This record gives sequence, C-alpha cells and structure tokens, in this order.
Amino acid sequence: MKKIAVLGSTGSIGTQTLEIVRQNKDLEVVALAAGSSVEKMERQIREFSPRLAAMWDEKAYMDLKERVADTDVKVLLGMEGLLEIAAMEEMEILVTAIVGMIGIRPTIAAIENGKTIALANKETLVTAGHIIMPLAEKKGVPILPVDSEHSAVFQSMNGENKKRVKKILLTASGGPFRGKNREELKGIRVEDALKHPNWAMGRKITVDSATMVNKGLEVMEAKWLFGVDLDRIEVVVHPQSIIHSMVEYEDGAVMAQLGMPDMKLPIAYALFYPDRRPMEGKRVDFFQLGTLTFEKPDPETFTGLKLAFQAARQGGSMPTVYNAANEKAVNLFLERKIGFMQIPELIEASMERHRKIEMPGVEEILQAERETHEFIEQVIN
Ligand code: NDP
Repeated sequence: MKKIAVLGSTGSIGTQTLEIVRQNKDLEVVALAAGSSVEKMERQIREFSPRLAAMWDEKAYMDLKERVADTDVKVLLGMEGLLEIAAMEEMEILVTAIVGMIGIRPTIAAIENGKTIALANKETLVTAGHIIMPLAEKKGVPILPVDSEHSAVFQSMNGENKKRVKKILLTASGGPFRGKNREELKGIRVEDALKHPNWAMGRKITVDSATMVNKGLEVMEAKWLFGVDLDRIEVVVHPQSIIHSMVEYEDGAVMAQLGMPDMKLPIAYALFYPDRRPMEGKRVDFFQLGTLTFEKPDPETFTGLKLAFQAARQGGSMPTVYNAANEKAVNLFLERKIGFMQIPELIEASMERHRKIEMPGVEEILQAERETHEFIEQVIN
C-alpha cells in the first residue's frame, strides 16, 4: 500500500489525483488539504477516510469539524495543518497541488522528513528552487514532476545520460489567443481567457496559459528540476498539445512523450514511477490527427513569456516578484478590476521597482511577495 497526502485535494489536480486513487486499490489517502471548499472536503473525507484533513480558511475549518464529528478524521487549520500533514510519519508521497507560494513551506517540511514529492505546485520551484532542489538532493528525496511538460521531459530522459542533453524543448499550446496581436488582445474578457483550447484546468492556470505566463513559469520550473541553464530551454508552440515536451541530445536525437491531453497520465506516472499503470481514456489516433504543427512563440505580443526569461536570468528574488505580481494581477483580472493586457504590464512594473536579493530565504521570499502585492494595490487604486 502506498500512502499519499494531497494538498489542494478539491482542485483540478487534486480531484484527478483522487480519481487515480479510486482506480488503484494499492493507493491509500492518509491526508487531504484545501482552502475553503468544505462540502467537497466532507465528501472526500467520507469516501477516502484520511487520518488528517486541513482547511486554510478558519470558518471552513470550524464548519468542517462539525460536519465530520462522527468520523475519525482529525481536522487541522492553516499553515500548521499543512505542516503537520507534511511531517506525517506514515505518509510516503506528498502531492503538492495547491495554487501559489503557500506550497513552499509544506514542501520543504516534507523533504526534510524524507517524503517523495509529486510536484504540481510550480510556484514553489519558481520562487524557492534554490532552496528546494539542494535540500532534496541532500535528503535523497525524489521530486517527481506532475506538470505535463515536465513529466514529458522526465520520461524523455529515462535511461539517458543527462550530461548529453543539448536542449529541453517545452511545448506550448499557445492558448486561446494564439496568432492574435496586441491590439486584438486589448478587449479580452474573463470568459474568453477561461476558454483553453485543449486542457481543462483551474482558473488561475487557465489565465496563465492565455498570457503565456504559465509557459514562463514552466521554463523556470524546468531549469530547477532538470538542472539546465536557460539557454538550453526553448519554447515551441504546438497547438494540438499531443507532444507534451521533448529533449534533444548531443547526437541530434530528439526524444519526446506523446499522448492525449489528460493530466491523469502525468499524475499517475509520478505516483507509480517507474511503473506505468493501465489507464482508461482516449488514445492518440495519428490517422485522425493527420498533422502536428509547430510555431515560434510571439514574445512581443505575449510579453509575459519574455519577462519570465528576464526574471529567470536575473535570478535571486526576481522570479518571486514575477510570480507574485502575476498572481495578484490574475486575481484582479478575474475580479474584472483590470484588463487582460494589464497583467504583463503590472509584472513588468513590479520587476522594475524591485531591488533583487541574491539568495532569498523563505521569509525574504514571502516578504518580496507581500511587497509586490502591496505595490500593485497602490498602482491600481
Ligand atoms: P485549482 O484552483 O483547481 O485548485 C487549487 C487547490 O488548492 C484547491 O483544492 C484549493 O482549495 C486549494 N487551496 C488553495 N489555496 C489553499 C490554501 N491556502 N491552503 C490549502 N489549500 C489551498 O488549481 P489547479 O489544480 O489547477 O492547480 C494546482 C497547482 O498545480 C498550481 O500550482 C498549478 O500551476 C499546477 N498545475 C495545474 C495543472 C492543471 O491541469 N490544473 C497542470 C500543471 C500544473 P479550495 O477548493 O478550497 O479553494
């Protein structure tokens, strides 16, 4: 029996992880955590009987405690709850599927306790990769990617000599606004940005795909996960989302992982690595597909991607500012308080005003996040 804990169990990745648990009787859920979705959490507790369940929101925590008083689950609150889950003795794999930098401290705590990490929460590596990767190496803890592109790269490196990697080719669908220019993007509404052509995901990451900030975050995630420098990471727009990413080697060979766009595959791969479990679902039909196409990204329209490379090159606390500014701006966009094109503008303005810290600790990262959020509040009010 493999014992797993899921942080962000009520979200898109979280619920798909639990679907995999339903289909594989040798997985056991020992802990769950969410923000405020009490009803969903109650249903999950009744179905999976975890030992611990944490809610971030205090009202939700009180409500949940009452709702599940007839069960054996221990209900926890906030960061302390997440940290208690991260340190659970019997837990073997921590699935980090929370959105945002909240994931940093529980991930570090889990690594310190020797737990394998199935990492979906890319913001953790983007902002604290310099803390997490060396710590994982020191503790001998595997960080297994859940993000489909990184899982594809990971699969394409299986059994290969990593020293012979020439390039990582991260594929991008281009999102719903591929091919549009800056003028055409000005009037974009929330409904338009939430329509991803190929993937069904949470709201924040769907907007990030539309701005291509998501690809920028993935570039930074790849840099840390695979220990390659930025010049060796290239973004290739591939609208069909069939090739999930590729690795070019020094002899010119390119290895790729292909499949239908379905997050359950990379999640299951991380949970059962190095095994591949049978899975239901649609298969790639090459005859029906006919053609796979590729384009260069357009960094002049999708400046979020260009800014990501800049933030990553500068390093230190700059990726935190990039990520924090984006989080804040996406929330404001979803609340219809700013326009779509203001998202990259606010990221750029935040990066310009920030004085970089070279090797920020967790507190400094969280401080840079707070300052960036405050700066954006001032700018828009
Ligand atoms: P969702 O918005 O669908 O889900 C987020 C989950 O995190 C929910 O369970 C939410 O709970 C929970 N949560 C939010 N804030 C807190 C908090 N402070 N404490 C505890 N739990 C919290 O997001 P996704 O599943 O789409 O994304 C999760 C992560 O995975 C992100 O980092 C994203 O970038 C990454 N990712 C997602 C992919 C996808 O296909 N969706 C693909 C690759 C990576 P509640 O429901 O109560 O709000």
